[in-house]
Amino acid sequence: MKNLISLPRGTHDILPEQTPLWERLEQNARRILALYGYREIRTPIYEDIHLFKRSLGETSDVVHKQLLELKTSSDDDGLALRPEGTAAIVRSYLQNNLDKKENLSKLFYLGPMFRGERPQKGRLRQFHQLGVEAIGPDSASPFLDAEILALAMDMLKAFGVKGPHLLINSLGSGEDKARVTDWLRERLKDFRAKLCPDCQQRFERNVFRVLDCKVAMCQSVVTEILGQGQALPLSDESKHYFNEVKSCLTALNIPFTVSPRLVRGLDYYTHTVFEITAEGLGSQDAVGAGGRYSGLLHQLGGDVKVNFGAIGFAFGLERILLAQGEQNPIVPSLNAFMVFMDVAFLPQAFAMMQQMRGSGISAGLSYNGGSMKSQLNKANKSNARFAVILGDNEMKAKSVLVKNMQDASQQLVGWDQLIPFLKERL
Ligand code: AMP
Repeated sequence: MKNLISLPRGTHDILPEQTPLWERLEQNARRILALYGYREIRTPIYEDIHLFKRSLGETSDVVHKQLLELKTSSDDDGLALRPEGTAAIVRSYLQNNLDKKENLSKLFYLGPMFRGERPQKGRLRQFHQLGVEAIGPDSASPFLDAEILALAMDMLKAFGVKGPHLLINSLGSGEDKARVTDWLRERLKDFRAKLCPDCQQRFERNVFRVLDCKVAMCQSVVTEILGQGQALPLSDESKHYFNEVKSCLTALNIPFTVSPRLVRGLDYYTHTVFEITAEGLGSQDAVGAGGRYSGLLHQLGGDVKVNFGAIGFAFGLERILLAQGEQNPIVPSLNAFMVFMDVAFLPQAFAMMQQMRGSGISAGLSYNGGSMKSQLNKANKSNARFAVILGDNEMKAKSVLVKNMQDASQQLVGWDQLIPFLKERL
């Protein structure tokens, strides 16, 4: 096809045959979110670019390399498409004074996110996230951390995701993070020359990120400085909090692995961080990730007198759909399909179709008519339960011939009896 403009790199169409799978995923998610008391929040898909710069950290990969800025013809510059949900939710939480209205805001969002990354399998420029945030004054509790993880695992179970595996870690408090930064730099400095070019920069910008670098040489350096499975040197208070989270998970029978290398890419995380992987996704196998980010509320202008607690996660829905494996196809169907012998009967057929729809019976017809055979074929293709046939005789007698498409049985029904007749049988 010449001159066809194709869709931008790293984006995808969700075609009508796929939308039922998305709908089913969303319905399952909404059902479980309601059980846990989460309510939906919708924010714009673009925000002031400074919101992302201030929250995610100027040095994070998302801000450094992946923000998609908007160019507008007005002087409304400094806008960017949202690369993730948390920053906007916190902005909205503060702007709408939700902390004054409720003790704990349990929020979820669902929608497209945008990152200008190099497109590859599992990495898109427009992808969809379902995210959850629990924010409130004095709300930090290991039980809430565990609840959030239970919610994530319950949803993955309902989605039928294969082999979900929960990895958790603690980055400690804000003070711990500053101390561990020095500790890591001190230990890494002799190995600096061995690190990959990205990690050379991370050493300065965000040394935590060296821990989860995928490059083999960096991984062996990390093993050397951390040892196998050694935890980060956190304060006793942070260790105690993390131990409580782990005990809660064990009490809930949620299996997990502690990974001291798990640090997450964004600057705002403190204390509990986690990632959930699934089987069959290749190298991009994280279906969701999140953590505690209480400090972000003050960073974005929240009242410093309030001791905010906040934790959340986001699932990548494209990856979840891939990790579901083979799904039963969802075949669209109609209750009734109008078939008319003569194009002159179209107004009557059309009126009857609308009458059926008005009574909650899904219905269709062929707008350009065609032979009875081709119309019945169309009825078949649309998986109609009944064909409602309007021939010469029926027209005269103000009746229709209702054909059951499953067993081919037929019955004459008066126009005024059609709706109750169908309702009884659907
Ligand atoms: P993050 O906001 O980076 O913590 O990502 C949360 C989840 O979103 C990841 O675990 C992925 O499942 C998904 N995700 C992140 N970036 C992309 C992307 N570029 N393409 C597709 N899914 C993504």
